[in-house]
Amino acid sequence: PEVVTKIAAGEVIERPASVVKELLENSVDAGASRIDVAIEGGGTELIQVVDDGTGIAAEDLPLAFATHATSKLRTVEDLFAIRTLGFRGEALASIGGVAQVLLQSRAAGVEIGAEIQCWGGQLSEVRPWNGAVGTRVEVRHLFYNVPVRKKFLKSVATEVGHICEAVIRLALACPHLHLTLRHNGKLIYDLPATVGIPERIGLFFGADVRDALYEVDSTAGPIRLWGYIADPRVDRGHARMQYLFLNGRWFRDRMITHALQEAYRGLLLSGRYPVAFLFLIVPPQQVDVNVHPTKAEVRFQDSSLIYSLIRSTIQRRLRQANL
Ligand code: ADP
Ligand code: MG
Repeated sequence: PEVVTKIAAGEVIERPASVVKELLENSVDAGASRIDVAIEGGGTELIQVVDDGTGIAAEDLPLAFATHATSKLRTVEDLFAIRTLGFRGEALASIGGVAQVLLQSRAAGVEIGAEIQCWGGQLSEVRPWNGAVGTRVEVRHLFYNVPVRKKFLKSVATEVGHICEAVIRLALACPHLHLTLRHNGKLIYDLPATVGIPERIGLFFGADVRDALYEVDSTAGPIRLWGYIADPRVDRGHARMQYLFLNGRWFRDRMITHALQEAYRGLLLSGRYPVAFLFLIVPPQQVDVNVHPTKAEVRFQDSSLIYSLIRSTIQRRLRQANL
């Protein structure tokens, strides 16, 4: 079983940022309104995520580390109408297999919380824990028992960069969340709850991008596309500043990248990419999010419809702006 845990972990947990992403998603699924992330040593020494969500009952703590144990899907039909970010029940089991994890939680309405440890897949007993309602996860010494994987990690700065990216993606998807990120005690982001995504875009990418955004919003049947695109004159060098979200979850899609490029055709300096923050709302029955281990890629039932919706919406908006 130990080997199996490690193989499965390899798919989901590639680097410290994967841990951050999975823990953030669990906090969002638990209805958190505030999440504090603290990392040390680029996340290889410590990743700590504290939320004020619903918490986990003491008797459910060991279950949280069980493979394919999710509290989020009850029926097969649920798999085709996923409303939570997590649904495979794989993340904590994977992380617990390749790190030293301390999970502390107190459910709402319970007098005292509980904690459990999982070191390289080995669970401790459940002990009482005296903390606030919500969940606190500490992941220490990631890949301590998988030396090859540890060896492939990049510099601290690179790993911190990936972690920042995971935080940015979630922060754009959930502007109502108060999010903080610290590295070695130093505050990197303090993002108060906002109503507007442009505010967060300004914080992450600068006021010049924020002030050059055009709002888009259109529908094709039950499918909705909304978000913000930047004026093609905004020059971010060769950075590919494109953020796509499907039903609240970040994803990447080459077809959409292409649709964007087509919509901006003739307006960009050569070698530059459109800057865009796009949110797609698609009925869960019309898209499969269960095709990629980290859910980074999806399969649309009707991808040509999505393609033309994106291209035509953006083309129209840029024309309206007299470009
Ligand atoms: P999944 O998110 O796919 O269900 P995970 O392995 O990420 O699987 O988490 C396993 C289970 O642990 C979740 O289904 C949930 O019940 C519980 N859990 C994990 N993190 C939290 C949290 N921050 N707050 C409340 N419950 C959590
Ligand atoms: Mg999860």
